[in-house]
Amino acid sequence: MGRTGRFTVLCLMLTLLAAVRAYPVGEQSSADLQVEVPRQEKLLALTFDDGPHPEHTAVLLDGLRDRGAKATFFLVGCQVELAPELVERMAAEGHQIGVHTLDHVQVNGLSRKDFDGQVEGLRRVLYGLIGERDLWLRPPYGIMDDNTLRWADSPVMLWSVDPEDWKDGNVKRIVDHITGQVRDGDVILLHDIYPTSVEAALQVVDKLGEEGWRFVTVEQLLQYKGRTGEVGQVYRAVR
Ligand SMILES: [Zn+2]
Repeated sequence: MGRTGRFTVLCLMLTLLAAVRAYPVGEQSSADLQVEVPRQEKLLALTFDDGPHPEHTAVLLDGLRDRGAKATFFLVGCQVELAPELVERMAAEGHQIGVHTLDHVQVNGLSRKDFDGQVEGLRRVLYGLIGERDLWLRPPYGIMDDNTLRWADSPVMLWSVDPEDWKDGNVKRIVDHITGQVRDGDVILLHDIYPTSVEAALQVVDKLGEEGWRFVTVEQLLQYKGRTGEVGQVYRAVR
């Protein structure tokens, strides 16, 4: 997807949420649960960027709930403003929430102030909705630099399977791309702002579910592999 366009339009109306909502930023409890979690296999993490979308994300949440699947959502500030109730629902239903910047901007090359505005700014908005918690970063387009890792204050989550769902909206192609190559511990990139991506995701859960695959959040994926998310570390797949 072009780096201008959709988000420029969507975000033009963005009010600087972070500026008007001054929630205190407390200690981030990077409190990884130090409990023994038995290692498991045939695990996948579905991740959805750029939402929430008022309609399509609601359909996705219904479908995930009906299938007992968990996912991770990397949210954009101007979309959060459109559907804050869906963010609360994600948290209530056991999904993981992360940040994808306030305005869907490339974070490489930003000043510290602008980076914090985009990343911490969105975190503060989300704390107001779902309480303070660890909110991992996924940089838009997966583009970052050394400062991104230095300033993220969380693990940085990329992906290992990318069906480029935004390209043609072809559900069958997206499903085949994913099911044809998944390996244990993969992290799958999708976008819940497209109805075709939502449909594809649910078909993937159904199809792979029949083969014994389970869908967990990225944090759970790390736990089930005996690892914890480290601040400033980049993760793609978790083997
Ligand atoms: Zn994005």
